[in-house]
Amino acid sequence: MPRREWTDIEVEELSLKFEVEPAEELLRWAVETFYPNVALAFSGQMEDVVLLDIMHRVAPGRVRAFMIDTGRLPEEIYELVEEVRRRYRVDLEVYYPDNAKVEEMVRLYGPNLFYGGPQYRLLCCRVRKVDVLKRVLSGLDAWITGLRRDQFPTRAITRKVQIDHDNFGILKLAPICDWTFEDVANYVRERGLPYCRLYDQGYTSIGCAPCTRPTFVATGNITAEELRKGRWWWERGTPKECGIHCSLEAGTFERHMETMFKLRISKD
Ligand code: SF4
Repeated sequence: MPRREWTDIEVEELSLKFEVEPAEELLRWAVETFYPNVALAFSGQMEDVVLLDIMHRVAPGRVRAFMIDTGRLPEEIYELVEEVRRRYRVDLEVYYPDNAKVEEMVRLYGPNLFYGGPQYRLLCCRVRKVDVLKRVLSGLDAWITGLRRDQFPTRAITRKVQIDHDNFGILKLAPICDWTFEDVANYVRERGLPYCRLYDQGYTSIGCAPCTRPTFVATGNITAEELRKGRWWWERGTPKECGIHCSLEAGTFERHMETMFKLRISKD
């Protein structure tokens, strides 16, 4: 069946409706409307566990979640995945980058190319994450993310329901985008949910091992910049984004792609 084409007006109405409702309502609607073609993107953040927990409550037995294994993830994420699989009895779908692309990239630029500059880092993120995500989303009608507005300035305009223009025009849902870091941490603590133990070591965002370090920021005083400053910490003045959530409207994605395409990597 051809995928539904959403109009801006339809999506704006949905976004306004769910803006004033709890995350449970948007997730319930998403599963009722799209299952099995809707899935949560799980990357090991506390936000992802919160969403998984809510989905498990409002739509037991109809929860789909996927993660992208970049090949450079810290061991602590795999430990969390095992815990989550056990607790929620969910078959977390794991997807991997294209072997040939990774091999070509590493042959040309080395395994740690990301330290060579933003264009190399974006190339690595594209090959190991963005291209994989696109493959996963090609089979979905909607996807769910743990994006929050106060995570970084590039995320401040996140809507709860939006059209994903970068990915086939499917719906991109961000049910807890209006939560703060404290809200998320409190939900996890109060319900005794599993979380990545890197948070206990001063991390405030979880990502690939070579590209993420602890921030040691106290959660009570945290600002958007501080929250993700442990990601690609060696870069100065570049958005702390891998390309998955860069807004087309803001032009960030195109600017990054332009730089990246000057490299010699082969394209689809
Ligand atoms: S976060 Fe680092 S290792 Fe992971 S895909 Fe991006 S550049 Fe590569």
